[in-house]
Amino acid sequence: MRIVLVGPPGAGKGTQAVRLSEELRIPHISTGDLFRANISQQTELGKLAKSYMDAGNLVPDEVTIAMAEDRMGQPDAENGFLLDGFPRNVSQAEALDELLENENVTLDAVLDLEVPEDEVVKRIAGRRTCRNKSEHVFHVTYSPPKKEGVCDVCGGELYQRDDDSEGTVRKRLEVYHTQTEPIIDYYKAQGLVVTISALGPVDEITQRALGALKRDEDAK
Ligand code: ADP
Ligand code: AMP
Repeated sequence: MRIVLVGPPGAGKGTQAVRLSEELRIPHISTGDLFRANISQQTELGKLAKSYMDAGNLVPDEVTIAMAEDRMGQPDAENGFLLDGFPRNVSQAEALDELLENENVTLDAVLDLEVPEDEVVKRIAGRRTCRNKSEHVFHVTYSPPKKEGVCDVCGGELYQRDDDSEGTVRKRLEVYHTQTEPIIDYYKAQGLVVTISALGPVDEITQRALGALKRDEDAK
């Protein structure tokens, strides 16, 4: 399956993507995680990306699309993938369509996670991310680690992302509304959008997502 996850920052895309990718046996590809890996390895791409990320802006399309295409071209993504945080604007969605067309494949669904803004703000404010692997995500009250400041999965140090500060979050939400939300209409026109509420316990949302994707597939 080829799936795009969409939703505001803090909606729980990464949290759900880890679970869905296991259930559906497809790799989880997060452009945010790829940028953060580049930042911790101090690559040129990481240095460039960090200035945009810290300001709450999108990293320029050219480098983002090249990075995402490179990752999607790896062998484990041959039969499917779950994209998290890509595409993030209409030009990236068009670039993805072109790539898929060249490969003679199509997207199966665009899973839209709906969460009210006040909840998203609370989720981001308490988010703690692992320095080793930014896929390992916790929340100080909603899903606290067993030992404060330590990742349950790998023992890495937990930290608060620089772009999770209050001012940057406001900017990221604005960028989401102006630049990312239009891709929902873009994909609605292709009949691909499956919307679910992302409120409630994490496992329930995973089941809700799997059920909605199955119903969508059966209806096609
Ligand atoms: P995104 O990838 O969309 O930015 P994350 O998956 O990183 O979002 O989740 C943001 C924060 O919200 C994290 O701290 C995570 O632990 C927490 N979270 C995720 N899903 C839920 C949920 N269903 N209920 C409460 N908190 C959640
Ligand atoms: P995320 O981990 O998805 O919250 O992304 C963190 C930040 O990385 C975003 O605020 C952007 O600055 C950058 N980023 C991630 N994905 C993209 C993308 N597809 N296009 C542009 N910038 C991105």
